[in-house]
Amino acid sequence: MSSLAPAPAATMRQAAILIVDDAPAQLGAMRSMMLQQGYQTFVANSGERALSIAQRAQPDLILLDIVLPGMDGMEVCRRLKAHPSTCNIPVIFMSARTETDDIVAAFDIGAADYIPKPLRLAEVCARVRAQLQFRRTSMSQQQQAERLRLIVDSMDEGLMVIEPSGRIQYTNPACDRYLGYAPGELAGAALDALLAPSVAQECLDLFGQDVQGGAAPKARGAREVLIRQRDGNLRAMDFTLTPMHAEQPLFVALLHDITHHKQSENALQRAAMVDPLTKIANRRHFDNFLDKEWQRALRTSQPLSLIVLDVDHFKGYNDSLGHAAGDACLQQVAMALQSHALRATDLAARYGGEEFVLLFGETGFEAACALAETIRAHIESLNIPNPRSTTSPWVTASLGVATIVPTQIDDTKDFFVQADRAMYAVKETGRNGVRAVKTGATFDALAVALDA
Ligand code: GH3
Ligand code: MG
Ligand code: MG
Repeated sequence: MSSLAPAPAATMRQAAILIVDDAPAQLGAMRSMMLQQGYQTFVANSGERALSIAQRAQPDLILLDIVLPGMDGMEVCRRLKAHPSTCNIPVIFMSARTETDDIVAAFDIGAADYIPKPLRLAEVCARVRAQLQFRRTSMSQQQQAERLRLIVDSMDEGLMVIEPSGRIQYTNPACDRYLGYAPGELAGAALDALLAPSVAQECLDLFGQDVQGGAAPKARGAREVLIRQRDGNLRAMDFTLTPMHAEQPLFVALLHDITHHKQSENALQRAAMVDPLTKIANRRHFDNFLDKEWQRALRTSQPLSLIVLDVDHFKGYNDSLGHAAGDACLQQVAMALQSHALRATDLAARYGGEEFVLLFGETGFEAACALAETIRAHIESLNIPNPRSTTSPWVTASLGVATIVPTQIDDTKDFFVQADRAMYAVKETGRNGVRAVKTGATFDALAVALDA
């Protein structure tokens, strides 16, 4: 059998007792009795001495005679209770005065017990033991509460205690810090001061279910929410609600800050949509944007225009000036294009290589043609020398334009092909130009009607 004997119980610190009495015989008898019980003792024969020993020695208990020369026991007790360093030391009075008024007065000023004289020493010992036991229990409770408070205060997570009505009862320092409130300022506030109304209502519903029905399946709520800070800014947090069944139903909310996580998530999302070289939208972003604008144009029957643009003789540019110069040239072209796509319904993107696209929502054929011509002229006016170009001394581009009022039988692919073909037509007829087409079922129908 393994001989893991239980560790001996931790020896408790020897309790220290201060005995205050002006009668030396009494003092001596009490002292030897207490020593016999294993207590450490201090003695004093006056009130003044009792106070100074209590301050310095911090005894665990004081046995205090009432009738003393000079300052009496009552006054000693009053002063002990008035001082923060001695106010928690239990005081047991010992007195020959057994009038009810005296006893009541002693308890009124904070006595823990009152023993009539003449003393029966066994009774004194029993009462001392009881008081020390009581003091130990209440101290360990205090220590536990203190330790819990320390944990809650030093937590990195925000913590709130919420009543089922949605009233906030308590917030820890991390919570105050996250939300920009002064300590205690949120106590008494309503949950919907911090959360969007729909989220606050969900919490209240959850509280209601839990208070009525106990183990509802949604008794725990964990979700990502936006919490309003004191300055009105919103902050992304993970919000977890847990019911706490104390005397009254309460809920504990834990708040975990995910702002940084969100920021990097957003940065990643943005990075996935941007072309690394030119910093304008990439092809993926453009494809999504085209789908969205297409759907909107379908609903509103507004025209949509697309420009496909390809830089002319760009291979020659690279060959003569180097790839790095080619990159810089693409950046300049991209900047120029971007400056023409300023509305929320416009987008300029690098589609690949030296090919760019621009989409203009709510833009008809004439406006698109005018825009394309402006863009062509803008690129030429950048005056970027292209020594190998047979078209112009400068970098130029060929642009194809397609305009559509989309219907259910049209599709984005064909729309794109039409603009691309128009661009190639420009390549074939000299480059540095614009070719535009109206496309889609609406236009075809119109053309047929005009022909007839
Ligand atoms: P065209 O006028 O018919 O369009 O002739 P082009 O020379 O522009 O067309 P081609 O497709 O023959 O050549 C495109 C060149 O673009 C080839 C390729 O090296 C260059 N290119 C594509 N992407 C990049 C890039 O990111 N940086 C640089 N510097 N060059 C690129
Ligand atoms: Mg080209
Ligand atoms: Mg090309």
